[in-house]
Amino acid sequence: MTFTESPATLNVVNPATGELITTVPATSAEDVAEAAERARQVFASGVWSRMPVRERGGVLLRLADLMERDAGTLARLDSEDAGKPITECLTGDVPGAVESVRWFAEAADKVFGRVAPGGGPDSLGLMTREPVGAVAAILPWNYPLAMAAWKVGPALAAGNSLLLKPAEATPRSALHLAGLAAEAGLPDGVLTVLTGHGSVTGAALARSPLVGALSFTGSTETGRRILKDAADSNFKRVSLEMGGKSPQVLMADALAYGDELIDHMIEAAFLTMGQNCTAGSRVLVHQSIADEVLERFTTAAKSLVIGAPADPRTQVGPLIDRAAFDRVAAAVDAARAGGARIHTAGLPHGLPQRGAYYPPTVITHAPEGSDVLTRELFGPVVTVQTFTSEDEATHLANATEYGLAASVWTRDLDTALRLARGVQAGVVSVNAYSEGDITTPFGGWKQSGFGGVEKSTDAFDQWTRQKTVWIRTR
Ligand code: NAD
Repeated sequence: MTFTESPATLNVVNPATGELITTVPATSAEDVAEAAERARQVFASGVWSRMPVRERGGVLLRLADLMERDAGTLARLDSEDAGKPITECLTGDVPGAVESVRWFAEAADKVFGRVAPGGGPDSLGLMTREPVGAVAAILPWNYPLAMAAWKVGPALAAGNSLLLKPAEATPRSALHLAGLAAEAGLPDGVLTVLTGHGSVTGAALARSPLVGALSFTGSTETGRRILKDAADSNFKRVSLEMGGKSPQVLMADALAYGDELIDHMIEAAFLTMGQNCTAGSRVLVHQSIADEVLERFTTAAKSLVIGAPADPRTQVGPLIDRAAFDRVAAAVDAARAGGARIHTAGLPHGLPQRGAYYPPTVITHAPEGSDVLTRELFGPVVTVQTFTSEDEATHLANATEYGLAASVWTRDLDTALRLARGVQAGVVSVNAYSEGDITTPFGGWKQSGFGGVEKSTDAFDQWTRQKTVWIRTR
């Protein structure tokens, strides 16, 4: 069902039931211009940008505490808006978001400048990092609060004034976060949430001459557009975290990890219904163990609990909307028509008719070059391919335009290191499916990323500019 939408508002629809949750403002380009001017003025006033850095960190620490206090509410908002299982929000997204804000709050006064050796005793080169000013972040819908926190933490800790645009489908946790920021004592105008359409609100941010840096997480297609808009406006610094088609590489000895391996494979493939930028959507398995892996993996996939996101037992909820369902279904149908074998238990009875549910699906014998092997499907669909040599595994792992993440399973350290070096991805996890933790950088290679990383102190590079101060001492 579609709802009539006024040009001034945006409908937020529950993907599990198809019901309207609420409407939020659809910010116009004029309103974005006004908000950017205000962010610029607030930055120039120094109320936040020149606040002693430990005080700034203190406000953000209070924000992290308040997020922890409201963890249940924040989890419910993301679960309802995005259709994510509530347990996933309560145990993953929200604690991760709290940790991120807290970690960057604590890091605020620990990012140092450098001193250059200089040309001799009569000069000193100081290299400092300064906040950019009015900056923007544009978010995807799959990890609404978590992605907000990855950007709010370092952007505000560095002293910027941030314009935050959540995805159309999932604005409510960002709005709640802004309320908590005010409660924590963040001065007015330092964090502004702008709900709205990507083509209007997002594009206005990308084209704004007042926005000095823009950090985007979303699809590769939108990232490309934003980069063009940045070039056509003021060459704002752009960081892009985009899509992926990540491999899970299982060498001949991988089954030594037993159930742990299967558990990680399932999480990699089906977390957030596979609507995860780092989803391990391509299993590459050594021929000698392929049958056993396929049998154990499909059995586990078929036993995942599909149901209402609000039910704590649910492991698989709906896709974000019917359009996503149609896209995933079309790609799987095309693979089947091309000779692929489809392994799935289907959907249980009793799910709401209008919910965009798609069952966990494993595909073997996919035709070479088919969409299921090359395109980011963003759904609970995994392909399985076999290889017989390490070179072939590396070649298959790298056979996409993406390079976000990969995992490698083997007990042999030399093999693990060779594969980790050979796979073209920003994060390679060994004997785990993991993006690392808040202390390690996260960013993609190839068409998965551009211009900066999230997490770790390296994230400050997105939100600060380097300045050299050359001092003649005599
Ligand atoms: P999307 O590109 O459709 O939208 C992302 C955001 O961009 C939304 O807020 C949207 O309103 C906005 N937008 C759309 N058009 C715009 C334009 N012309 N100018 C400016 N902004 C615009 O992506 P999505 O569907 O929300 O999210 C899914 C994608 O995000 C997947 O490709 C996924 O892999 C990727 N993702 C990547 C990471 C990562 O860290 N690499 C993390 C999560 C999601």
